[in-house]
Amino acid sequence: DKFKNMSLREELMRGIFAYGFEKPSAIQQRAIKPVIKGRDVIAQAQSGTGKTATFSIAILQSLDLTMRETQVLCLSPTRELAVQIQKVILALDMIRRRALRTRAVKMLVLDEADEMLNKGFKEQIYDVYRFLPPSTQVVLISATLPHEILEITSKFMTDPIRILV
Ligand code: AMP
Repeated sequence: DKFKNMSLREELMRGIFAYGFEKPSAIQQRAIKPVIKGRDVIAQAQSGTGKTATFSIAILQSLDLTMRETQVLCLSPTRELAVQIQKVILALDMIRRRALRTRAVKMLVLDEADEMLNKGFKEQIYDVYRFLPPSTQVVLISATLPHEILEITSKFMTDPIRILV
């Protein structure tokens, strides 16, 4: 499959090609469309697979650009990874927001979820989730799926698609 066949907004397509991506990676081919469609997605994927661009592209496609409120939250295990993710999102398009209001949030991304749990962030993840509207779409990326991850998927997600790359 190709980026061209994903019905992405034009400025996002330009961002993708300007970033130097020609062809979607395996996880991008399988996960971008279901995320854009609003499905909850569990992606079992390591770094190096193109996971960051997967959810970044899906996020940028899903944003309502007429709305000046936070629509997506992305949690990651380290500050460094969060900064890296921010760089990718900024490079692919032009979003700069500061205030955090949760009422318009429609998607929660949990990147490297197993690493967040290893670092002891379980309570923080649950605390954030409790603040979000109940219908929030959840996208979870994790290299491994131990019991605590499956607990999160069953508590936060509805009929999730599971993708293994
Ligand atoms: P990640 O899995 O997010 O750690 O990404 C690994 C590397 O793959 C990063 O350097 C990305 O810039 C690169 N990458 C992601 N998607 C693509 C793509 N479709 N084509 C070429 N490189 C990509």
